[in-house]
Amino acid sequence: MTQEISIYNTATKQVEPFVPLAPGVARIYCCGPTVYHFVHIGNLRTFIFEDLLRRVLDYSGFTVNHIVNITDVGHLTSDADTGEDKMEKGAAREGKSVWDIADYYTQSFLKDWERLNLKQPSAWTKATGHIPEQIALVQTLEAKGFTYTIPDDGIYFDTAKFPRYADFAGLDLKGMQEGHRIGVTEGKRNASDFALWKFSPPNEKRAMEWESPWGIGFPGWHAECSAMAMKHLGDTLDIHCGGTDLIRVHHTNEIAQSECATGKPFSRYWMHGSWLVEQPTADGAGGKMSKSSGEFVTLDLLIEKGYGAMDYRFFCLSAHYRQYLNFSWEAMDTARDSLKSLRRKTDPLIARASAIASDNALGWQKRFRAAVGDDLGFPQALAVLNQMLKDPDLLEGEKGALIRDFDAVLGLRLEEKPERADTALPGPLMALLDERKQARADKNWKRSDEIRDLLKSKGFGVKDNPDGTTSWFPV
Ligand code: AMP
Ligand code: ZN
Repeated sequence: MTQEISIYNTATKQVEPFVPLAPGVARIYCCGPTVYHFVHIGNLRTFIFEDLLRRVLDYSGFTVNHIVNITDVGHLTSDADTGEDKMEKGAAREGKSVWDIADYYTQSFLKDWERLNLKQPSAWTKATGHIPEQIALVQTLEAKGFTYTIPDDGIYFDTAKFPRYADFAGLDLKGMQEGHRIGVTEGKRNASDFALWKFSPPNEKRAMEWESPWGIGFPGWHAECSAMAMKHLGDTLDIHCGGTDLIRVHHTNEIAQSECATGKPFSRYWMHGSWLVEQPTADGAGGKMSKSSGEFVTLDLLIEKGYGAMDYRFFCLSAHYRQYLNFSWEAMDTARDSLKSLRRKTDPLIARASAIASDNALGWQKRFRAAVGDDLGFPQALAVLNQMLKDPDLLEGEKGALIRDFDAVLGLRLEEKPERADTALPGPLMALLDERKQARADKNWKRSDEIRDLLKSKGFGVKDNPDGTTSWFPV
């Protein structure tokens, strides 16, 4: 049995009951990071929002098939398919190969994923692992007459052939056309047309390129998500997610190419998380935290400054996912203090947890479910938690059991006692832990034990979990 939940659908601009294609099964696709740099805490806000969705679906009884992609193919830095290749830019910056860059930043991203207690998706999909599927998608579109070729450039999607193109994002195509400067991409029929496949420039060896029916080249940015989503989840998904910056171009183009290829709706629901923004300073700087500016806050930086990954998660929970969230160090201090004071109340109760049995306790559970099931109302859910803790008529054991139940969705690791120290592990110790992980993967038990002892001498115990992860805690 599944519980009813409602979610805001960007496609209809309304909060709607969630009704998946197959009863009881939720197939969700989330656009992942481009791994040419560290992810910043703005990106992580979107991944936290998607984790909350995933947890609410699990909590509500759905069987969730959840795909997250890793964009490891270099795409051109502008939405208009022009400019520099992001991966090549990263490689040049660091004097490494694009493959090393992709690998390094993918590992770093996965470390953040684990530290923020984000649930593992059913599958991670890499763009470079799905080149044949992307080529097949372009071939289908070509066979159906939706494409045209710009010589020495690439295969383009003709957006004029998809009459609903502007609907999803409410685009002003006429305005776009008027503002379209000649020379942006010579030969584009409409300003909104986009590349499906780019040809490698003749006489130039690109770091990432593949054979295709059109010669050597590389896929356009949007092809990967359509190809991977449909391969792993079917032609029509239940929910497709991302940050709001993806609505106008990336998701609009995914819809156009997928629906023209299959003739079916691409996703029943679209959900978008709002931005983490930096408070404007006196000189007006601030706005959306972004990777391309090269100046951004990472989870490592938060940890270096003494905040925990759970402090950041808590900070994100305090605002609704469709509202801007202002980042500031003062706000992080408040989040850290609030989480600390919450834990002071929950720790002793969790230790005494019994079961949720009385009508009163069931009532609190119902209120919590209603909050998270109403378009992920986490600020309200936190308020329910705080009110529940104050209820004089509720037994302590039931309070403990309710905290456990709620934390399955909040994901704040309230049950872990003492709080997992990974969030505050100093950088050099973190490196040791990584080395130990590698030693274990290599079955080098001697080194693994040495590192465990070394960490212990520095005050940290480690525990290897059956699922392959390692927890660590102060000793
Ligand atoms: P990217 O690696 O740039 O493709 O971004 C990965 C995800 O982070 C996408 O879903 C973006 O929409 C999202 N994102 C980028 N910047 C921000 C921000 N400042 N706040 C919230 N989400 C963001
Ligand atoms: Zn995508």
